[in-house]
Amino acid sequence: MTEPTDLRERTASCGCRNVTVRTSGKPLEVHACSCLNCQRETGSAFSYYAVYPEAAVSIAGERKTWRRHVDSGRWLETEFCPTCGVTVISRSEHSPGTIGIPVGCYADPSFAKPETLCWASRHHHWLQFPESVARSETEPD
Ligand SMILES: [Zn+2]
Ligand SMILES: [Zn+2]
Repeated sequence: MTEPTDLRERTASCGCRNVTVRTSGKPLEVHACSCLNCQRETGSAFSYYAVYPEAAVSIAGERKTWRRHVDSGRWLETEFCPTCGVTVISRSEHSPGTIGIPVGCYADPSFAKPETLCWASRHHHWLQFPESVARSETEPD
């Protein structure tokens, strides 16, 4: 079964709602990542991102940018709301022309599940993903 299948417009936002991210169409991919950087950056056990083509994303509101280098040496950049600090998008050198949106920012529990868990070996010991989620030991695409 291939998910997600719906084509509607969606709006993600930060905690204080000053930044909104509108996406249209279905994501290119949805992944979770339990690498230690994602754990720190989300304050949670894993990150959960939907990746869209840049042309399908429009962003409004003031943001700050943070660029870092991942293990591969390539850059990864996130933009976050300067008021509430919530990350609203990410871009990476590895996937030019795409934007990742943290799925939690949609506040939509019906959102498609992750297709892949990246850095699966670093997941928290209690965490059990369904068999249908592929496991990978690399960075997200
Ligand atoms: Zn905010
Ligand atoms: Zn990660």
